[in-house]
Amino acid sequence: MLKENLEQVEQRILAACERCGRRREDVTLIAVSKTKPVELLMEAYDLGVRIFGENKVQEIMDKYDRLPRDVQWHMIGHLQRNKVKYVVGKADWIHSVDSPRLAEAIDREAAKKNLTVNILLEVNVAGEESKFGFRPEEVLPFIEHVPSFSHLSVRGLMTIAPFVENPEENRVHFERLRKLSVDIAAKKVDNVHMGVLSMGMTNDYEVAIEEGATMVRVGTGLFGARN
Ligand SMILES: *Cc1c(COP(=O)(O)O)cnc(C)c1O
Repeated sequence: MLKENLEQVEQRILAACERCGRRREDVTLIAVSKTKPVELLMEAYDLGVRIFGENKVQEIMDKYDRLPRDVQWHMIGHLQRNKVKYVVGKADWIHSVDSPRLAEAIDREAAKKNLTVNILLEVNVAGEESKFGFRPEEVLPFIEHVPSFSHLSVRGLMTIAPFVENPEENRVHFERLRKLSVDIAAKKVDNVHMGVLSMGMTNDYEVAIEEGATMVRVGTGLFGARN
């Protein structure tokens, strides 16, 4: 079943790329394996998957030790500052940087470990009460402070779009995130790159790709429903 799902997701990514004249290699598929057992991740690994997304610190730590070293881990869930120390050094990317204080904590921990961490700024583009993330208007002012973080590399933006029946409804949010990244890139701030747009999940990744996503985070569509 995983094999068929993976093939189907691959085909859909490719088709979405073709519809909008983008190259397949410009879109990275992140296999969101949260709540799923290590055996299933190993099955994905054996099918060639090397990039996994997790939303809980404890789960990344457990799985990190049990999967081969060439796996790349992406932290995609809300991260508390007191848990930063467990993630830095294990997660290659942190997508969910949602406040200046969290960025500062990651920078400090990365400095201690003499690493540079790739981060994305999470933006609550749809303005949902229940969601974490910078408000769109907070991102530009924050960006000005990034050059003082010597062990962070800001690589782009991330958003979690609302849950909707019709993925077309999220197109405006993806478009808004892309426009924001263009505005930020134009500021040419040291240490701030806007090459990455992490947007799109099982329900809406094709629309996200059409709007410029370079990382899509697919869980259910690969591994099946979560309990
Ligand atoms: C769970 C999760 C996903 C994957 O969701 P699916 O709908 O199962 O594809 C993507 N991004 C984040 C931040 C998540 O927490």
